[in-house]
Amino acid sequence: MNEAQPKILYIEDNPDNQRLVQRVLGARGYEVVLAGDGTEGLTIARELTPQLVLVDLNIPGLDGFEVTTRLSSLSHLQQVPIVALTADNSPDARERALVAGCDGFLLKPIDPRLLARQIGEYIAGHREQIASPTAEAALLRSYNQRLVERLEQQVRELSSANAELEELDRLKSQFLATLSHELRTPLTSLIGYLELFERGILGTLNEAQHEALKVMHRNSETLALQLNNLLYFQELRSRSIVPQAIQPTELLRPLLATYHQVAQTAGLHFEAAGTQTAPLAVDRSAFEQLVRVLLDNAFKFTPRGGRVRMIIRDEPSRLIMRVEDSGVGIAPEHQQKIFLPFYRVEAPHASLHPGAGLGLAIAKHIAEVHRGQLTVQSIVGRGSVFSVVLPRTGSHGS
Ligand code: ADP
Repeated sequence: MNEAQPKILYIEDNPDNQRLVQRVLGARGYEVVLAGDGTEGLTIARELTPQLVLVDLNIPGLDGFEVTTRLSSLSHLQQVPIVALTADNSPDARERALVAGCDGFLLKPIDPRLLARQIGEYIAGHREQIASPTAEAALLRSYNQRLVERLEQQVRELSSANAELEELDRLKSQFLATLSHELRTPLTSLIGYLELFERGILGTLNEAQHEALKVMHRNSETLALQLNNLLYFQELRSRSIVPQAIQPTELLRPLLATYHQVAQTAGLHFEAAGTQTAPLAVDRSAFEQLVRVLLDNAFKFTPRGGRVRMIIRDEPSRLIMRVEDSGVGIAPEHQQKIFLPFYRVEAPHASLHPGAGLGLAIAKHIAEVHRGQLTVQSIVGRGSVFSVVLPRTGSHGS
């Protein structure tokens, strides 16, 4: 874009007209910036101060009248002429355009010999006026009515589209829940038999068979974990949270003992620190699940030799729980998205860590139904800190 060249913003969906205006005005030293519809025109106009805006009144979506009204309310365009371009030659077409905020009115088809001169006059300050104030008031009234009618129609369409989406979402959830249940039952029996084989109860296995069974078992466990997450995610939406007063450090003791073992096998340094806390009203299993998700992730995304710490801090009005790791970290552009269901960061190490991208969505939901918060701070290559803040008085249902 040449900064010095005068710019015309042209909002038009017809490619023939776009080309014609670009050619005619381009030859006179203007740069014509094109927008294919009203919304795009408004987006461009927010960034650009052209010498003039040319608007086709008959465009899809937001029509030319509405775009003009919106454009003329933007403070940086107050002195910029907006000129309507239309094929409508009905008696009051010009007045209707002026009432919507246009400063000028040109009829289609465009006359290439006149266009540059007409544009030049508007840029030089020429403005068209409505001759009769009574006609203007009546036109304004009917324009306002039309705007409200369009708005009402849009709201109605959006509400019905939203209701349809909600229904589709409900059907999808139902399908996922049924599917996960259907898959889990045979999987449980599969894992049961694999365990019997591994323990030699169903006969002796040679070394190769034993190895193969171990792989099958490990993969089945991964599958079961994913299904559990999926089920938990589905149930969480409809499930009611039952808060009861618990002592968080007491509740976490057995869970943390398991993680100490896992850390040893994974070659990680794991430490849990926290003072004895006062009781807190939370849903037991949801709280446990929240801690599991954060610790599982910290372990998953921290290479051997790294460090994972869980710190619980008790305050009179809230409980703060931090899970810190010295792992791979999360780039800033992913830090909010990782809380969305099914979102996973595409990274070279991702395939090593199976997951459906549901853990953090579940964890955030749990924090929020307890009127708390879950946030992240992270630096790529240095590690991540996930912080949960749960208020003492505001637990769900109280
Ligand atoms: P998943 O079950 O697939 O791990 P989550 O919702 O728990 O799904 O996490 C989403 C994504 O966020 C992960 O795939 C990973 O890329 C990123 N992530 C979560 N926790 C950490 C962490 N502690 N360190 C680095 N990346 C993480």
